[in-house]
Amino acid sequence: MSVEDSCRLCKDNLRIKGTLSNTKKIFPSKKVANEKSVNERLMALGLTLSNDNSRSGRICRSCFRLVVRIEEDFAVFRRWQEAEEASFSTVEERLPGEEVSLAISGVQRSCPVSGEKRAREHTPSETTHYVNKKRCTEQPTATPTPKLSRPTAEMPVRRSLTEVIIHYPSNPTGDKMECQANIAGIVENITKENWRTAANLIVRHKELFGRLKENILKVIEDESKLLCNPYKGFMLWRSSAADLKAFTFANLLSDLERMSPFMFSIFSKITKRSPHSTCAAAAIALRGREPRLSAFAYCVDSVLMYGGAKKDVFKRLSKLGISTSHACALAKQKELKLLAASEDIKSTQCRQEKMPIVCDFEN
Ligand SMILES: [Zn+2]
Repeated sequence: MSVEDSCRLCKDNLRIKGTLSNTKKIFPSKKVANEKSVNERLMALGLTLSNDNSRSGRICRSCFRLVVRIEEDFAVFRRWQEAEEASFSTVEERLPGEEVSLAISGVQRSCPVSGEKRAREHTPSETTHYVNKKRCTEQPTATPTPKLSRPTAEMPVRRSLTEVIIHYPSNPTGDKMECQANIAGIVENITKENWRTAANLIVRHKELFGRLKENILKVIEDESKLLCNPYKGFMLWRSSAADLKAFTFANLLSDLERMSPFMFSIFSKITKRSPHSTCAAAAIALRGREPRLSAFAYCVDSVLMYGGAKKDVFKRLSKLGISTSHACALAKQKELKLLAASEDIKSTQCRQEKMPIVCDFEN
């Protein structure tokens, strides 16, 4: 009997009349979208299974149902744990003479109070958390929102002990260090080069993820700097009339992907890979940093002009970095018209209809 013929947990034979039946793969080779694999489910519960040939990579139906039941019960347990931790930390954070905003903000979030009332509750004379809390519970719609302290999920519970021994040249017998429960899994998975699992655990570690965030922001900063460098050829810099006529989302998307792959993946993730939304969001965000990255804004201008938008519309949208100012929009329209005049009949027609030239925005 091959190891694959038995359930990893109950060891039952999974082969009935020669065929594997009522079984699930623990490490599926093909991932089903929106469905967690058995391995991922177990990892979330704190059990990391090794994927090697000496152990079965299959689980029977009844053991799988057991995992699902544990998951459900664990979810209830975790909510309880979080609620307990949240109420503990709000009390703990309120040290004498300290700013109480942190502790109170979690409570106030759930209180539908006016800005004026909110401001009043922050006055030093009313520092008693319990007063605020009591006031909150009086609101019929208020539900306590536990403070979100972790980037994703809880660190899995771990029962095994992980030790690291470092053999220094000066100390060949080595220094043995015991890993704390919250980093043991990270150390183990880094050592085994299970990068995905290690990364998963790192984002659950509050302090480590905090440090990592600084590095992630640095990557974003570097990519932004590159895009905002006028000599690097990013297409949002190119805002002459001829460039604007050739403006396409496909080119913008390709520039973003090529020059700022990390930032591109973030925008892409946020927008669920919607190419137009990714381009628009990135263009507006980058213009907040570098106002001369105006190609997209000029394209929006031409749509606004075409729709007969008034000066006031430009004033408002330019504040948001979406369009340029009305004066700039007019100047660019003039430029576009001059270009059209020197071009083919199609643009002549456009001119005769006295319509502003609209950039090709659709592809
Ligand atoms: Zn089983």
